[in-house]
Amino acid sequence: MLSTMSAKPIDATNFVRIAELGRQVLAGHDLTPEEGCWLFRLESRGDISELLVWANRIREQFKGNKVHLCSIVNVKSGGCPEDCRFCAQSAAYETSSPRYGLVDQDTVLAAAKEAAANGVAALGLVAAWRGLDEGPMLDQVCRSLEEIKRGGQIRADASLGMIKSQKVADRLAQSGLECYNHNLETSPRFFPQVCTTHTYEDRVQTLKHLKQAGIKICSGGIFGMGETPDDRCDLAFALKRLGAHVVPLNFLSPIPGTPFAHCAPLAPLEILKSVACFRFILPKQEITVAGGRVVNLRDLQSLIFLAGASALMVGNYLTTPNQPVEKDLQMLKDLGLDPKWDKHGFSDQDDRRHRATPHPSPLNLGNIQHPTSNAQHPIPRGEGAA
Ligand code: SF4
Repeated sequence: MLSTMSAKPIDATNFVRIAELGRQVLAGHDLTPEEGCWLFRLESRGDISELLVWANRIREQFKGNKVHLCSIVNVKSGGCPEDCRFCAQSAAYETSSPRYGLVDQDTVLAAAKEAAANGVAALGLVAAWRGLDEGPMLDQVCRSLEEIKRGGQIRADASLGMIKSQKVADRLAQSGLECYNHNLETSPRFFPQVCTTHTYEDRVQTLKHLKQAGIKICSGGIFGMGETPDDRCDLAFALKRLGAHVVPLNFLSPIPGTPFAHCAPLAPLEILKSVACFRFILPKQEITVAGGRVVNLRDLQSLIFLAGASALMVGNYLTTPNQPVEKDLQMLKDLGLDPKWDKHGFSDQDDRRHRATPHPSPLNLGNIQHPTSNAQHPIPRGEGAA
């Protein structure tokens, strides 16, 4: 019987190159920006599937079955003087986002208690304002950080906007802050399309103050604003150069009233490809899938780990709801992944450590033959220092 089905023959050239680059990363070698951009520009479904297979192997090698969970609490919401075009909290746009001033310490401590009860490793205190200067606000934030640290149940992180003075960064470090989120958002080339009230360089400078203070950097971006694959690639390499430890990836969930309200949503495969490319470029970092997961990925959410993600934001986002934490924990259990992690101080990103031993989770698709004799003990090159 003749079949009416037809299939296009597969061009295996890209598969071969993806595999070569995957082996290179597994052997501890960095990709070049040109190699990274080549991955970001892959388009066919077959190529993206192959990319995910290799991203999963890289995640298994460097992160094992460990998954980092974090949550956020909005300690000051809305009315921000900045004009980031994706943001519901900018005072420049009419949105339905709530507005309130800095919440009291009891509210913060209650959020910390709830997050710890959910098995979350870190709670980020997030404020919608331009940035943090010396003064009563800084004093209040530091008191909350100290109190959470004293409780010993959860790591207190923060995302409090730009930091223009080293003194502020040092004060945060003294109050026990270990990790600060400040996203670069996109490439320097595309940044002026995203925000006009501050510059990309302002954001980089904030990260430099934090690094100087010994605070770990959590920095990532947001995709789906009209940026190109090369913009995403440039962001990944900028974060690598700056030594980010945690890289949150957000996927635009267009907010009515903002200038990006009418951006077309990213296709799930495009999102998974972006996560995989970040894993190739940043093999040891915590790659966190943050905002826009549920609305953009829908039934494909669990594939983020196959794409190389090693961390998940759970609980509600700043202005949009997430799915219940119990559902996320069940998803991790079903995948054989371990969320009880990250009392570790990011030790698995230490260059002196040997690679993580692969764990037999359902996502571990088997051992790889490495091309070099020293492949079992890869020598990382150019990894961002803490
Ligand atoms: S992203 Fe941050 S800085 Fe930009 S408008 Fe929103 S709250 Fe303000």
